[in-house]
Amino acid sequence: MGPRPLNQYVLKVHSRCDLACDHCYVYEHADQSWRGRPREIAPETVSAAATRIAEHARDHGLHRIHLVLHGGEPLLLGAAGLAMVLTRLRGGIEPVAQLDLRMQSNGVLLTPQLCDLFVEHGVQVGISLDGDAVANDRHRRFAGGASSHAQVRRALALLRRPEYRDNYAGILCTVDVRNDPIQVYEALLAEAPSRIDFLLPHATWNSPPPRPDGAATPYADWLLRIYRRWVRDGWPVDIRLFDSLLATATGGQSGTESVGLDPAGLAVIETDGAWELADSMKTAFDGAAGTGLDVFRHPADAVASHPEFARSQRGVSQLCQTCRECPVVGQCGGGLRAHRYSDAGGFDNPSVYCADLKGLITSINHESSTSAVRTGAAPDPGGPRGDLLLDGLPADDLLDDLGAGYGSAANLRRLATAQLAYVRGLLVQIADRVAGTPIAAAWDLIVRLDEEAADAVSAAFAHPYVRRWARHCLAPPAGESPDWAFLGALAAGVAIRAGVGVDLEVPVRSGLVHLPGLGALALDEPGEREACLSIAGGGFTARAGHSAVAVPLAGPAPPPAAWLPVRQAELDGWRVLVEDLDPYRDCYEWPVAGRLGPAQLAFWRRSLAAAWTRIQRSVPGQAPGMRVGLRAVTPLRVDPTGRLRSAASRDAFGAVGTVPTDPDPLAELLVHEFQHMKLGAVLDVSVLYDPAYQRRLTVPWRDEPRPLEGALQGTYAHLALADIWRARPGAQAGQQYRRYRGWTVRTIDELAATGALTEHGERFVRRMRDTVDSWSDDPR
Ligand code: SF4
Ligand code: SF4
Repeated sequence: MGPRPLNQYVLKVHSRCDLACDHCYVYEHADQSWRGRPREIAPETVSAAATRIAEHARDHGLHRIHLVLHGGEPLLLGAAGLAMVLTRLRGGIEPVAQLDLRMQSNGVLLTPQLCDLFVEHGVQVGISLDGDAVANDRHRRFAGGASSHAQVRRALALLRRPEYRDNYAGILCTVDVRNDPIQVYEALLAEAPSRIDFLLPHATWNSPPPRPDGAATPYADWLLRIYRRWVRDGWPVDIRLFDSLLATATGGQSGTESVGLDPAGLAVIETDGAWELADSMKTAFDGAAGTGLDVFRHPADAVASHPEFARSQRGVSQLCQTCRECPVVGQCGGGLRAHRYSDAGGFDNPSVYCADLKGLITSINHESSTSAVRTGAAPDPGGPRGDLLLDGLPADDLLDDLGAGYGSAANLRRLATAQLAYVRGLLVQIADRVAGTPIAAAWDLIVRLDEEAADAVSAAFAHPYVRRWARHCLAPPAGESPDWAFLGALAAGVAIRAGVGVDLEVPVRSGLVHLPGLGALALDEPGEREACLSIAGGGFTARAGHSAVAVPLAGPAPPPAAWLPVRQAELDGWRVLVEDLDPYRDCYEWPVAGRLGPAQLAFWRRSLAAAWTRIQRSVPGQAPGMRVGLRAVTPLRVDPTGRLRSAASRDAFGAVGTVPTDPDPLAELLVHEFQHMKLGAVLDVSVLYDPAYQRRLTVPWRDEPRPLEGALQGTYAHLALADIWRARPGAQAGQQYRRYRGWTVRTIDELAATGALTEHGERFVRRMRDTVDSWSDDPR
């Protein structure tokens, strides 16, 4: 496999700064290369950078490029200089790929004129602020020592103006444990950012971070105080570090280089056109970020295959032995690479923040878990009863957010957490049923690993079809038998994710050993009902009858052809499983497709990436929730008549099924089914209507009347479809918009008139109504 293409860039447009922060890694750390760089980026350097980025995007089929304008201080370039940069970047890159433009600034020089320029070019502006005046002025001062706090707050007030609000990306805050964490949190919250990034101060084993009073984990303690307050406040803002740790706890991606095992794909271009590694490397040693390459002579491909980039993309195998054996490595990933550096060991160390990272992660995992394994909560195998799992969560906020037709990342995480708790409850019941049988060994292993490697357990349980299997076991349809032995496959998946050596019995079904969410192994002994899996050293060996197959899952040796991995589609910085293997995925009203061949898979990947671009463009309000909530797309069998098919199941949170199709209709199908999936999860945690209500409702999209829940589901899906068509140009799109909007309004009225909605249900439906009322009859 070739190197992973680069879709994230940092462009240094000015190499000096109007502030003189003493924690600045550009000027105050080991690397001093800024001294030899031009102050301002030259027009020809911008054009060369744009050309390199565009050719790389074209060659690798990248549809979206993320680019951050950075410095020093980028605003020192002034309005004319920045206009030149933005015009050249867009002119060079946008014919090939969509450009997501951002800027990181200290804000001191921000003016309405500059904000107008950022609105014109769609630039999202992030501002650095370390907290209240005391906290901020500890480090972020002018060269003469004067405070920058008032100027930065003035910049934030400017970005909050309605005309600039959409361009306000959030706040970057560098942690100083001498500041009171709650005061910092409240000061940042008062600036109404949509996102906060907490940055650990850059440090290495050569120059460790300050630890006042010799405290063992002051950074974990500091961040945990904010985490607990944030949870108590009901997640009022996205906090990237916490979001990443919560996402990776349930098998998601971190979306940041600071934690987790997501491969890095970020290159820096300095003001002289030099290609460099991530800026944080400047902290390690002088020249650590250098590559010897530049945009005039070298394509981005050369950067992507640079050995240092290759190292940052190899996941767990590039970490030291201690990290590789660490139970939270999937979430921590050894922290930021620069923080692992020592003169003696190079980067072959745990993070200098190891104790803090481990403390933070284990505490967050413990506190965020609503583990039924520990609490003994046992849901009804016939299905969740609303309000069972939402205890302690602010239901109104969730209902308002989801009812409006969208769903923030935070609320999708709440729903995912509730689903996880529900799955755990089902598994407790399965454990009771298999007690005293050989299958109980699998449960004992899961319970042990739940203490030692909780993230691996959560990641395995969060696979969308685990709930479907568990419910099938506990209440099998007539004529079918419970597949208790599949618990062994689930436990094996946990052990592999946790990197724990163990021997386990797993079932063989139609010649395949399935490991949910990971893949399946084809055995040559189709008659066998069980195989023995020996898990060790980042892989496993399966023995059945006379055959034994070794499957390495990490390291340089490729797995054998008999190993069929679950494959993924790359969607602009995140990935979704293309789930064509799981034996319990066949839970939809339409039959599922079999294993995809290479050409079919390539089509799915292209189509999903292009559909995602359309979703981001036409219904951006759906994107944050989808990124968190959509784990798998399951290919359905194509209808012989060519009709489009799609489906979602209440028993498969995180998955939607669709047929392969072109990007525009695929975007509609994905959004449509994601609505059903979300509403199903809302119904799992909240009672929206009187279950005794029997009357069926007339709906405009079906000939036959529908039960109340079916009408509610259809309304919610059509609301999102109206939203998609609202954004599309042309008379036909206008017609479609009016059709879906009309259906939505009509059924909302029907639902409201039933008198069967609960208080929560009325609230949810009212929010749907507010959304459609805010749209004009004719968007054009
Ligand atoms: S504002 Fe940023 S670039 Fe400027 S000195 Fe401070 S940390 Fe460094
Ligand atoms: S917590 Fe420490 S040992 Fe574990 S992955 Fe992170 S840095 Fe490595």
